[in-house]
Parts: sequence; C-alpha cells; structure tokens
Amino acid sequence: MTRDGWELVKVCITALIAIIVVLSCYLYRSKLHIARLEDSLSLAQAKVQDLRKIEEINNRQKVEISRLNDEAERLKNKIEDLEKLSKQVQALAEKALGIDLSYKRSQRSYSSRGRDTSLEEIRKKIDKLDNTVEIQKDSLNQVRSQLEILYEWRYSVPSGKPVPGHISSGFGYRRRSFHTGIDIRSNIGTSVKATANGIVSYAGWKGGYGFTVIVRHNFGFSTLYAHLSKISVNIGKRVERGDIIGYTGMTGYTTGPHLHYEVRINDKPVDPKDFL
Ligand SMILES: [Zn+2]
Repeated sequence: MTRDGWELVKVCITALIAIIVVLSCYLYRSKLHIARLEDSLSLAQAKVQDLRKIEEINNRQKVEISRLNDEAERLKNKIEDLEKLSKQVQALAEKALGIDLSYKRSQRSYSSRGRDTSLEEIRKKIDKLDNTVEIQKDSLNQVRSQLEILYEWRYSVPSGKPVPGHISSGFGYRRRSFHTGIDIRSNIGTSVKATANGIVSYAGWKGGYGFTVIVRHNFGFSTLYAHLSKISVNIGKRVERGDIIGYTGMTGYTTGPHLHYEVRINDKPVDPKDFL
C-alpha cells in the first residue's frame, strides 16, 4: 500500500472513531432523558394514586357527614317527641295530683358548640345524646303509667255530693231496716251529677228505688242515684264526674222529694259520708 493509501485509512478510522464517540454521547444522553421521563411518569402515577386515595377519603367523609346529618335529624325529632311526652306527663300530673306544676324551664341547647370537632367526636356526642334521650323517655313513660293509675284513682273514687242539700237520713240501721245510702233533701227537678268517672250500668225503673241510675267506676266502686224524676243517660254511656245523669224526684217508695244516694265497693254498700 502506498503512503497515500495509509493516510486515507487513518483518516477513515479517525472519522469512524469520532462518529462512534458522538453516537455514544447521543445514546447516553437519550438514555438519561428516558430515565428522567420514567421518573416523572412514576411520580405522576404516585400523585394520581394519592389523589385517588384523597378522593376516596372525601367520598367516605361525604357519606359519613350525610349519615351524621340524618342521625342528627332523627335525634332532633326524638327530642321533640320527648318534649311532647314531657308536656303530656306534666299535664297528666297536674290532673292526677290536682296541682299546678307549670314553671319556667331553662331552654337546654342540644347543639354542639365546638366547630373544629372531628366526625368521630360528633358521632360519639350523637350516640351519647341518643342514649340520654332513651333513658329520659323510659323514665317519663314509667312516670306516665304511674300517673295514669293515680289519675284513674282520683277520678274513679266517688267524691262530693251529687246534689246540693242537707242530709235528711244517714247510712245504717233505722228502726227495723238497714238504710244502704243517704238521703239528700232536694227540690224536684234539681240536676243530679255523677260523683266519679265511670260507665252507666243501669238506667231505669228499679222497684222501690223508682227511676234509678247506677254508674260503675274503676277499682270496684259504683254509685247509685234513686227516686229520680227524669233520667238523662243510657246504659253504656261513659260519664265524667260532674256530668248530669238525671233530675231529682220522688218516684218509688218515698215520703218526699229527695235523692237516695249510695256508694258501693264491690257491690257492698258503704257509708257515702266518707266520700263527700
Ligand atoms: Zn234513702
């Protein structure tokens, strides 16, 4: 080979080496770039994952908040019912005990004061309040049933005179017969009032009693009103203390206008004076 030939070969080899070096650099830079892109991509993927998690948490919180709202609404209704029940019990207590129980109560606020409370704390407060409401409801219901019995008793036991007037004949033996009630002197046509709440069990003619009304009350009590001129109730009618059941007269065996009044316990006559 000539000298020129060697020179050409050397130039070619140098050029080839230069090309290889440039290509290598280019490839290396591309590789670095790809690696950076891969890093960015996995970062972005991680961010997307995070966002998804946040979204999930948000959705869960939304559901929880909506559930808590429903719970709070339900509780509000329960508290309103409790207040109604409390008012009913108070009214019943006033009727059963015959006293005025009205007093100014301080308005209790059931609303949560803290603004930064967590959902979990709100949940706990709602549960606690719910429990308190249930306990109060139970106690009020117990008191109510006791008061209902007391109320029944108060209005089932005969009390007061069925007509105004003097007692002309008392309960017990008089001469040979036993007087099973009391006689109250009264002008004909005076209204006769039931002395306790109950149901009319007899209304009509009853031998020597003349026109008679019998009212059955709770706890074994009954009252009898005799010698009436007129009866204004029918059998089965529910009457309350003070309701007019008829008018005084002198029907049956009687010497003058009066009301024969009896109080019976389990059908056994007792002295009505103890119930006036
Ligand atoms: Zn009599």
